[in-house]
Amino acid sequence: MTFKQNMEAMSKMSPEEREAKVGELTKMCICADCPTYVGTGEKKLLFCATGKSKIIKEEKGCICPGCPVYENMGLRWDYYCTKGSGKEQAGI
Ligand code: SF4
Ligand code: SF4
Repeated sequence: MTFKQNMEAMSKMSPEEREAKVGELTKMCICADCPTYVGTGEKKLLFCATGKSKIIKEEKGCICPGCPVYENMGLRWDYYCTKGSGKEQAGI
């Protein structure tokens, strides 16, 4: 499925289903191992869904393309923590 199709599927979920899916994706997120993330004091994850970090400002490499969520959701962008969510970067 493309990212857009995944977003459409998620928009049809009940709030409970969506929450469960977001929880599942958060467990898969590898941002905590990323050079841009480490040492910043950021605690949040899943920027591809939630959008920019309020803390991370400096880009030191992005490991998103190696993340299972990237594959799973059909994501095609990077630096979600500084550039914005998948939806924002896809313009949808
Ligand atoms: S694609 Fe990037 S922001 Fe999204 S879950 Fe994976 S590591 Fe985190
Ligand atoms: S979105 Fe990309 S650059 Fe930002 S912390 Fe996650 S892996 Fe690193």
